[in-house]
Amino acid sequence: MNYIILDLEWNQADDLKTKLESGLMFEIIEIGAIKLNSEMIEIDSFHELIKPQVFDHMNQVTGQLIHISMKELQDCRSFNEAAADFLRWCGDDFIFCTWGSLDLTELQRNMDFYNMPGLSKKPMKYYDVQKLFSIAYEDKKKRRTLQYAVEFLHIAEEVPFHRADADAVYTAEVFKRIAAAGSVLKYYSFDTYHLPQNKAEEINVVFDDYAKYISREFINKLSAMGDKDVVSTRCFLCGTKTRKKVPWFSNNGKSYYSVMVCPKHGNIKGKIRMKKSTQDKVFVVKTMKQINAETVNDIISKRNQIREDRRDRRHRS
Ligand SMILES: [Zn+2]
Repeated sequence: MNYIILDLEWNQADDLKTKLESGLMFEIIEIGAIKLNSEMIEIDSFHELIKPQVFDHMNQVTGQLIHISMKELQDCRSFNEAAADFLRWCGDDFIFCTWGSLDLTELQRNMDFYNMPGLSKKPMKYYDVQKLFSIAYEDKKKRRTLQYAVEFLHIAEEVPFHRADADAVYTAEVFKRIAAAGSVLKYYSFDTYHLPQNKAEEINVVFDDYAKYISREFINKLSAMGDKDVVSTRCFLCGTKTRKKVPWFSNNGKSYYSVMVCPKHGNIKGKIRMKKSTQDKVFVVKTMKQINAETVNDIISKRNQIREDRRDRRHRS
C-alpha cells in the first residue's frame, strides 16, 4: 500500500454573503501530493494549479499567504480535469495522509460541487499527520502548525510554507519521521464527509487504551441519546457490562460524559460528542478510555459543579 501525502490550497470570497451564494465556500486552486511506497520511500509527486470557476477574486489573506495571483491561474486546467488526473495518479491501493482533517473534506466538497464520483460512500480511513505528531511527540491533544513540526524535527526549510507542493513535501518529511519513531501508525483516523448510512456501517475501533465509535445520522440529539449503542457503557476491552459510576451528563449539550467500572479493567471514561452533519442532522463520535482515580474525581466534581450552577440559576429565576 502506498501513502499519498496530500495538501490543497483553496480560495474563498472576502465576504460571507458571496461565499454563501456561491454554493462552494472554499474553491481548490492547487493540489500538491507526494507518493510514498510501503517502505516510506518517495516514488512520485503530483502538483497542479487550478483555474478558478467560482471566485474571480483572490481572497486578500489567501493571496498574501500563498502568493498566487488570479492571472497565474487563468491558463490552468479546471478542477474536474486536474482532480480526475490526480485521482488516477493516486492508484488503487493507497491511504491519504494530510495535515489536519480539512483537506479531505474540501477535496470531497469540491468534487461534489462538480458532480464528480465520490472517493468513498462511507467514512474513509486516513492518517491525520497533525494528530500523529501530537501522539508521537506531545500530549495527543495539542494541534501544532506544520511549520512548528518541521522546526521541532529539524527538517531543512528550503522553500516557503503555504504552497501545496511545499507543504506536501514537509508533511511527508514529518510523516516519515513519525513512522520511523515508533508504533503510531496504528492510530488512523476516519474522514466523516460521508457518514455511516446504517448501523452495519458504523465505525467501532479499539486502539490500545481507547476506543472510538462513529454513529450513523440521527434527526436530533434526543434520538441519538435514545440509541442503545450510542449510550452503551459496555467495556470496550472485554465487552462486559459495567457498573455506572457517573451516568451520562452534559454541560452544554455538545459533549456528554460518563464514568463506568469494569470488574476487570477498572475505571473507564466515556465521552460523546454531538456533531452536526451536512444535512443539519447529528451524528455521534464516542470515545472510551481507561482512566485513573484522580480523573474520576475530576469528572465527578465537574458534574457536581454543573448541578450546583443549575440549582443556583433555578433559585434566581
Ligand atoms: Zn473490561
